[in-house]
Amino acid sequence: MRLNVTIAVLATLLCVSAFATSPAGPSSLAAPSSPATPVTHHGALSVEGNKMVNERGETAPLHGVSMGWHSSWPRWYNPDAVAEVVNVWEADVVRAAIGVHSRGGYLDNPEFAWECLEGVVEGAIAVGAYAIVDWHSHKIETAAAVKLFTQVAQKWGEYPNIIYEIYNEPVNDSWDEVKAYSRKVIEAIRAVDPDNIIIVGSPHWDQDIHLVAADPLTGYDNLMYSMHFYAATHKDDLRARTEAAIDSGLPVFISECAAMEATGDGPLDYASWGEWEKLMAAAGVSWVAWSLSEKDESCSMILDGSVPATGGWRDGDLKEWGRYVRDRLQTLRQR
Ligand code: MG
Repeated sequence: MRLNVTIAVLATLLCVSAFATSPAGPSSLAAPSSPATPVTHHGALSVEGNKMVNERGETAPLHGVSMGWHSSWPRWYNPDAVAEVVNVWEADVVRAAIGVHSRGGYLDNPEFAWECLEGVVEGAIAVGAYAIVDWHSHKIETAAAVKLFTQVAQKWGEYPNIIYEIYNEPVNDSWDEVKAYSRKVIEAIRAVDPDNIIIVGSPHWDQDIHLVAADPLTGYDNLMYSMHFYAATHKDDLRARTEAAIDSGLPVFISECAAMEATGDGPLDYASWGEWEKLMAAAGVSWVAWSLSEKDESCSMILDGSVPATGGWRDGDLKEWGRYVRDRLQTLRQR
């Protein structure tokens, strides 16, 4: 998702205080609160052919919610918000969108990014959900990515919960450039964590999946490739391209999507969203909806800044998209 809002100066304080006051801090690796969590159901994920599968070899599509940019909307990066979307909305997966070049992002303040990331990942582990660590960048930043993902693999690589998303949305980089970057980051992760899923970005806002399908990376296990769509903008052409990539054998993970225009605003296009859901369900493809934040736009699920970040959200606390995603997720969890 494109960043078009600047950062509140208080962002750091908000995130740190939300996390510090939470009952489930980074040292709290509590047992799952329910006997049937996504992670107890599926266990460690892997890739077989064009499918993501669980420990029993069954196709295991995950459905969930992405946080907004951590550097803009940090207060949602806390274990209580994660518990709400996992236990109440029944999300299988939450995505931490760690801004890189954004003001207050990883390059400006890596410690703050790490604190926000811990809030989401430790929260997901505590409630038995999967957590996507998303390098939310639009251009290549190799050394910093290698540093963060090495740290993530060292801390959480032994947990089945973790999914690495090493490049949110390339914009101007060619597929050859993305491949070269990806090899470096994949090798850094695999030096520590031999097995968890790694999602590779596709050129041109994750839409040129046909270029990836024609020439995927080779030599690594458990790689997937991201495709992103906004249903009011992206319709039959991108659906056909995505289906062709999947049919050619490419494992695709839809790590960001929503029902309005690619600006993140405007009315929800339920007809086009429904066509996307049909495609994703038929192919067993995972999807993650953008985003859990309070920005004044239709893709931000929370009504406004008055809504507490600790959960207990009622219908009136959510925008139309938030209620819709919650209702869809509650029908989709596998048990
Ligand atoms: Mg591992």
